[in-house]
Amino acid sequence: MTQNAALKVADMHKSFGAHEVIKGVSMEAQKGDVIAILGASGSGKSTFLRCINLLETPNSGDVYLNGELMRMKTNRHGEPVPADLRQVERMRTKLAMVFQGFNLWSHMTVMENVLEGPVYVQGLSKAEARDKAEALLAKVGLSNRAEYYPAHLSGGQQQRVAIARALAMDPDVMLFDEPTSALDPELVGEVLGVMRDLAEEGRTMLVVTHEMGFARDVSSKTVFLHQGEVCEEGPPGKLFSNPETEQFRTFLSRMN
Ligand code: ADP
Ligand code: MG
Repeated sequence: MTQNAALKVADMHKSFGAHEVIKGVSMEAQKGDVIAILGASGSGKSTFLRCINLLETPNSGDVYLNGELMRMKTNRHGEPVPADLRQVERMRTKLAMVFQGFNLWSHMTVMENVLEGPVYVQGLSKAEARDKAEALLAKVGLSNRAEYYPAHLSGGQQQRVAIARALAMDPDVMLFDEPTSALDPELVGEVLGVMRDLAEEGRTMLVVTHEMGFARDVSSKTVFLHQGEVCEEGPPGKLFSNPETEQFRTFLSRMN
């Protein structure tokens, strides 16, 4: 394995009570990789992403961001917990997450949503942050919506704001959890278009998706999770044209 992968996950396990949801998943993304993560509902895709940025605490397994290990320790109940919350905070700002449900702050305008991180986390001046936010809104095609509130935007526009907000933190790795699943079909394309642009710019991304076209055309590697394990992985061209397992064949046939 490469020492300086942008993101490396080694042998991650996660259980909820007696239910083991992630059963030893390893994954490595080099800088600029786009890894598409596929799998049926309940296969552990969201849990896996949430364990990477410690929204859930994995039972075991190591996460490295740019070679830096996210340090864990054992509490007095024998449970794993982060060893240093400041490290978690710092690493989380470098691991932007985009959710299915947009999760914008509804009481803030689009501009305020995008400004929040640069001003309050990165400590940029209002003027610098505003320049940055304007550039990012232009990038996602929403320059003319800066003063709108999220409720007055379409789902596709809200998700593009969420992507701009994530980019505002200058993340090293972006985690997308079914970013288009909540959208009306006619709005999916505009969000995938923005994600395609990010991929072309060389952003490192892990994308949980049911968009097979995106996985096939954009990902550098596709991973199929089945019941908490990596069932198949490889270059998408190979995986889609020659699925090797019954599980992946069944999954693909249900997608079409
Ligand atoms: P996916 O995103 O692939 O649909 P999830 O990671 O959401 O799968 O869920 C995997 C399994 O873990 C499911 O059986 C789900 O019910 C269970 N699960 C997820 N989160 C929790 C939780 N907080 N508590 C208990 N079980 C959970
Ligand atoms: Mg999910």
